[in-house]
Amino acid sequence: MSPSVAIVGAGFGGLCMAIQLERAGIRSYVVFERANGLGGTWRDNSYPGAGCDIPSHLYSYSFERYASWTRRYLEQPEILAYLEHCADKYDVRRKIRFGAEVRRADFDGTRWQVTSGDRTEPFDVIVTGTGQLNRPHLPDIPGMPDFGGVSFHSARWNHAHDLTGRRVAVIGNGSSAAQLIPRVAEQAERLYVFQRTPNWVIPKPDTTFGPLARLGFRFVPGLQRAYREWIYRYAEATLYPALAQGWSADLLRKRALRHLHDQVPDPALRAKLTPGYPPGCKRVVIDSAFYPALTRPNVDVVTDRIVRITPTAVETAEGPHEVDTIVYATGFRTTEFLAPMEITGRDGHTLEEQWKGGPEAYLGISVPNFPNLFLLYGPNTNLGHNSIVFMIECQVEHIMSCLPYLSANGPIEVRPEVMAAWRGRLDAAMARMVWGGGCRSWYKTAEGRVTNNWPGPTTLYRRLTARPPAPAYRPVGPRTP
Ligand code: NAP
Repeated sequence: MSPSVAIVGAGFGGLCMAIQLERAGIRSYVVFERANGLGGTWRDNSYPGAGCDIPSHLYSYSFERYASWTRRYLEQPEILAYLEHCADKYDVRRKIRFGAEVRRADFDGTRWQVTSGDRTEPFDVIVTGTGQLNRPHLPDIPGMPDFGGVSFHSARWNHAHDLTGRRVAVIGNGSSAAQLIPRVAEQAERLYVFQRTPNWVIPKPDTTFGPLARLGFRFVPGLQRAYREWIYRYAEATLYPALAQGWSADLLRKRALRHLHDQVPDPALRAKLTPGYPPGCKRVVIDSAFYPALTRPNVDVVTDRIVRITPTAVETAEGPHEVDTIVYATGFRTTEFLAPMEITGRDGHTLEEQWKGGPEAYLGISVPNFPNLFLLYGPNTNLGHNSIVFMIECQVEHIMSCLPYLSANGPIEVRPEVMAAWRGRLDAAMARMVWGGGCRSWYKTAEGRVTNNWPGPTTLYRRLTARPPAPAYRPVGPRTP
């Protein structure tokens, strides 16, 4: 009999899991989705200019390519439409329970008791697809609640608030800010960009596909696959070594500095925008419209520390900047994986207790003491150089290979010694990566431990996740009757 599977989240991860279950003929699953629509991060992030800086032919499922894409990089509405299309084509929408937030899950020795709303149901397996970037981070700036204008987070865009002729503050300058600032700058009368730390920025080589290319993608067998493979291999061969402080690190720095020089003629502004840490330590911004927006006459880049927010202004040491709108492009609570769900494992401890020293999971997927719990896009599986969808597909494949094993043997969990060896391996690999020192980033905890990123080539991750579950896993309980 097929195991019953609770999938948490209907974003790229949860949908991929549901689709592969369907394709394998396993229908005993439910997708719990807190919101009233699918798409996860691509539903939440609808700010003007939202899009993906990874080419779409790679930032898509390998089993579902779109022949009709007209440009290299897609914007949010098209990515969301793609996910809606996938849910319909593979007929998983009927399995999604919208407005159903999983609050807790308790392992009872045999199965998981999953609680959503006031209903608790048993499942053999839980797969979490809650992402790393789904809980907005709001800063703790004195006076924030007293602001008399309109304020919102970039991932909770207030579409009812017209920015035409407004005086706007954008706090933060990461990838989200870089995408929305050019659009906001076109509308606002005055835009203050509050930058705490400059980012490395490289151009986004966007292009439209002409009729010939589109025909080719549609009708030439293997062309889409070859194009996808080429983008993947190129990122792996050039960007990964830069993050591993190898041969291309200096090239990346030079490319970013050239981009800055090409786009920002004013030396004073250039100095403000020049980072003082190695490229890649924080996520590199890939955008060609960000710098030009900062050079507009109606835009100021403010680098003084924000001291407080008053009812009418964002105040720095140099004085108040009067605004009527504040956009918090201040990122996400990235190191609190799976929060606020409370997950209690085999020994009665919660995942939060077990992860006091920082979240960790074997392959980013499995955690000792938590049998038959599998994480998608879990700890140490984020990338700074390639497509997360690739990682998700590796994880789903791994989980699919675990299902027959746990069906035959009862609940399985990763062996503690395997987890310990995994930790050692990660630490050793992490030591050569650029993320450790010199910058603050969402990749790491306040103590500086990198909990989010995968420190190896993704080709290695694919090989490791493709291994069969035994002997890394062990059965730990009776089979479901
Ligand atoms: P982020 O990269 O974490 O950036 C947050 C920004 O807010 C930083 O500039 C940070 O400054 C600033 N900030 C935070 N707290 C602050 C405070 N108290 N005072 C002043 N400034 C503060 O968040 P994000 O831009 O939303 O991007 C998150 C990730 O989402 C990206 O790195 C990327 O992986 C993903 N993303 C991807 C795309 C894409 O095209 N693929 C697009 C958007 C987002 P510091 O740098 O000084 O900390």
